[in-house]
Order: sequence, then structure tokens, then C-alpha cells
Amino acid sequence: MTATSRPPAGASGRGVLLCEVFGPTIQGEGPSAGQVASFLRTGGCNLACNSCDTPYSWDWSRFSRSEQTRRAPALDVAAEILRHDGKLVIITGGEPMMQQARLAPAAALLTAAGRRIEVETNGTITPVDAFDEHVALYVVSPKLAHMGMPERRRIRPEVLAAFQATGRAVFKFVLDGPQDVDELAALQERYGLDPVWVMPQATTAAAVTSGMRALADAAIERGWNVSPRLHVLLWGDERGR
Ligand code: SF4
Repeated sequence: MTATSRPPAGASGRGVLLCEVFGPTIQGEGPSAGQVASFLRTGGCNLACNSCDTPYSWDWSRFSRSEQTRRAPALDVAAEILRHDGKLVIITGGEPMMQQARLAPAAALLTAAGRRIEVETNGTITPVDAFDEHVALYVVSPKLAHMGMPERRRIRPEVLAAFQATGRAVFKFVLDGPQDVDELAALQERYGLDPVWVMPQATTAAAVTSGMRALADAAIERGWNVSPRLHVLLWGDERGR
């Protein structure tokens, strides 16, 4: 290795902290909702949202880290994904950008095999080139106040700008209800976020339907897209679907 080819920060021989690999299934949310996809869920998160729908991937006060996660070499992770059919691969978490340097070799292998990589992120960690060059789309999901953290922790203007600069980012917001619309509108105006998807906070089919209905008119008025949670409509809160 030459002095100019150091691995990016975070790359190490420790492998990826992996929560789960599953699929093929249906991407339930955001711009690719309805497409067949495989999922790679990393372990660990740099936020602590009070209504997180995947706390088993990071909240070690409630779940056992050793039972919920394992370390795996990046190339083994890619091989595991490649056993699944389907072109689309969703890298999600937890917060996958915490491990982007470790994920880069897996991402390279997957794109070389013709897979399309979309990354779901909370938008607080700037992409690094070694990973970014393999990502077709970032679904950036900044957190609103109802998630229970101070704004300085959940909204990082310079990181949002970096995602926008890729030209491969969309912004997806989980709303508790219409009471969150003004907060999102202000955030969108302040940081020029576009395009926007809004999605209800819901873990039952009935709540997804009523939540989408409650958001639809405000979304139409503002030119926002409405995201379902198809996996919840199809399979409820079942894990790994
Ligand atoms: S950023 Fe995502 S994974 Fe992390 S705590 Fe919030 S909702 Fe959960």
C-alpha cells in the first residue's frame, strides 16, 4: 500500500457489524416501494430515536448486542447478499453510514455483480468517496422533534448539503401526524431539501392507512410524495420481511 492509498477512516480488519441480511422481499418505503429487494441491516446507531422501529439493531440497554449482531468480513456479507435473487440491495440500519468504510468492499462487489445499492440513512454522517461511488441512491431520513433529541444532534446542515451535492439523495420524513407538517415545511425551506417523501409513524396496517390518509392533503398541497409502509400492510410488524 502506498502512502496515498490509505483506507478511509473506519476501514479495518474488524469487519462489518451486521444485524441481519434478509430477502428477497419487498421494499416497503420511499421511492423504491414495491420493488423486490434484499436487505443488509447494520448494527449500531449514532442517534437514539424514541420511536425507532428497529431498536434491536442498536439499543443495547434493551437488546443483547451479542445476540442481535455479528462481525462479518465485508466480502462475506456481499456473498450472503448475492445468494439472493433480485437487483436491488437496500443497506439500512441502525445507521449504516457509521460503517461506510467497512462496507465499501462489499458495495464494490455488489455493484460489480450488477446490483443497485440504495442506502437508508439518518443524514448525520457525510459520505466518503470509497463507499459513495457505489451508491445509486441515498434515502436520507432526518429526524423531527418528536423523535426526542435536540435539533443539533439530529439535523446536521453540512451533512444534508453533502448528500444534496451527490445528486443522488431523496429525503424521507417519518411524521407522527399533521402536527409535524409545519416543522417539516420549515426544515425543507431552510435547507432546500428536495424531493421529499412523508411517511406515517405506524406499525400496524390500520395505522399506516389512517396515517397516510391524515398526511395526504398536506403532502399534495406542498408537492411532497407520500410513502406507504408496504411491508407493514403485507406482514404487520414481522421482522425480516
Ligand atoms: S436513526 Fe433510525 S435506526 Fe437510529 S435510532 Fe433513529 S430511527 Fe432508529
